[in-house]
Amino acid sequence: MIIRKINPQGYCNGVKRALNIVSNALEDKNVKRPIYLLGQIIHNKHVVKDFIDKGAIVVEDKTKSRLELLDSINEGTVIFSAHGVSPLVYKKAKEKGLNIIDATCGYVLIVHKKIEDYLNKGFDVIYIGTKNHPEVEGVLGISNKIHFISNLEQIKNLNITNDKIYCTNQTTLSQYDIIDIFNLLKKKYPNILIDDKICDATTVRQKAMKEQEKADLCIVVGDSASSNTKKLYKVSSELAGIKTILCEDLKSLDKNELKNVKTVNISSGASTPDYIVDEIINYLISID
Ligand code: SF4
Repeated sequence: MIIRKINPQGYCNGVKRALNIVSNALEDKNVKRPIYLLGQIIHNKHVVKDFIDKGAIVVEDKTKSRLELLDSINEGTVIFSAHGVSPLVYKKAKEKGLNIIDATCGYVLIVHKKIEDYLNKGFDVIYIGTKNHPEVEGVLGISNKIHFISNLEQIKNLNITNDKIYCTNQTTLSQYDIIDIFNLLKKKYPNILIDDKICDATTVRQKAMKEQEKADLCIVVGDSASSNTKKLYKVSSELAGIKTILCEDLKSLDKNELKNVKTVNISSGASTPDYIVDEIINYLISID
């Protein structure tokens, strides 16, 4: 079997930074205990479990917002994930006297800052993202005036009369899907200021997926909750036209899919540790 690793793949700089921040806090005896992670620090169960084993407490409930989750934290340190939090979460944590460690990725912070600036300048803001994703929750918490859309369909529901409109987006969307949304928005609002904020890590990984060599199968390794992982899957199957499967780890890899496969490409999301990909590659070598 020919096995090709698609490059780049795996941890992006924002994820590496967030993981270092948590590791350093857990090792530093001067950091106030207990140490809470507000939601999954990154979307990968293996990484999160490792931090739990080292003493972190993960506060998570899919039915609750980050703001509501804070109700259960009354002491010690709270770490905000790479996805970022809204200003209200920051304020509430401060008011509760918690020690705050912010692992928000710089790309996400830029989006927050730009939206705040344009709202202050009197613009209506349109934000494109995936419903219920933590990054989106953080952005929408900036102001209840932000117009949120997830797809082309929802553009027809926008009724903005302001001449000044600023539009930006979640950092991990598909660069290939968002173009259609931008174009339709430009058609409806010719003066709109479009500010594409898909991050560099997402852009180069999606491009590598689109341009991958032909193969019988492409395996994308990553957590089912990871936005950028799901987009890699979509680019591979829909744009590269290669049969693609998604798996979280070796255990969840559907071995039936490997029958008659002679060439396999493998990639992974920005929150997938290398060792999980290596385990899968070693398995593929072992069955060859
Ligand atoms: S995917 Fe992009 S925005 Fe998200 S953590 Fe990585 S670099 Fe930051």
